[in-house]
Amino acid sequence: MICLRAKPLIEKTQEYLVKLRRSLNQAPRLDVLLIGNHEASAIYVGRKKQAAQDIGIDVVIHHISDHASQDHVEKLISMLNNESNCSGILLQLPLPAHFNVMKLLTLIDPAKDVDGFHPLNKGNHLDNFAAFVPCTALGVSRLLKFYNINLQSKNVLVLGRSAIVGKPLAIESLHQNATVTIAHSATKNLPDLVKQADIIMSATGHFGVIQWDQVYEHQIIIDVGIHRHNGDIVGDLGKKPAEKIVAAYTPVPGGVGAMTVNSLMYNIFKAYCLQKQSGCWADIAQSIDALTL
Ligand code: NDP
Repeated sequence: MICLRAKPLIEKTQEYLVKLRRSLNQAPRLDVLLIGNHEASAIYVGRKKQAAQDIGIDVVIHHISDHASQDHVEKLISMLNNESNCSGILLQLPLPAHFNVMKLLTLIDPAKDVDGFHPLNKGNHLDNFAAFVPCTALGVSRLLKFYNINLQSKNVLVLGRSAIVGKPLAIESLHQNATVTIAHSATKNLPDLVKQADIIMSATGHFGVIQWDQVYEHQIIIDVGIHRHNGDIVGDLGKKPAEKIVAAYTPVPGGVGAMTVNSLMYNIFKAYCLQKQSGCWADIAQSIDALTL
């Protein structure tokens, strides 16, 4: 049974990116728009900032009041789109209810869309054309590759169909020739679908939709969920009982969440290199991919 820890891959990637950063004349810069006082968002932004600074990426956090207007945020995004020192723009979600999220995401220059949520990047991802792949899906793909888990002809069950997690996970799996099933809140007979799966990717945001006693020894469990439960941080399936055997599983914390942050770093360098035409991104991407071998 393999525990798919992110740490070994993250250390290798960081080492490479630090060297890459030293070879650049200028630091890539990430601009984060943090709106309101959402506690979890502030924690996630703090982790992204730390990871970026560890590599030598500059980070500017724009703290915006939850009373700010749509117009105010639109103007800030337009300003950052035109700011040559800004490599990537990240709009931390969720936003207070009065914002038109789709309009804001669509306003971000697709070349600076390091989260991969702009419709152009989403469309390109769907067609397996060069795009910024959303960080969680990219992180899962890189982690599976690192542990030599090939999705070819595997039955992958994705629980969740959100635009930012579930669908990109399903698309990534499809691009790797898996046979993909997407389950959501209206899906019936989930236990039957679980039984047929080789790999289960759970991103429901609900604790215990499937549980450890419902999965099988031959299966691989990718747990995307993040929950606070009895004082611990756990995934959708909760803490794995020591006696439970599966083929492989991602720990929470230390699995998908860590890979998501690391893949944001990947996307920031990609944005920087493509904007500045500094070095050939294709070669750099190949070198980063080679770290997963
Ligand atoms: P959403 O709430 O946007 O989506 C949840 C999805 O789960 C929906 O598609 C919903 O279905 C589906 N769902 C809900 N209940 C069930 C059920 N009983 N059976 C099957 N499907 C169900 O959440 P996100 O996609 O944004 O995030 C999902 C989880 O991933 C959260 O726990 C979040 O914290 C975590 N997350 C983790 C990240 C990481 O780096 N590890 C990054 C981002 C998120 P329907 O569409 O029908 O409502």
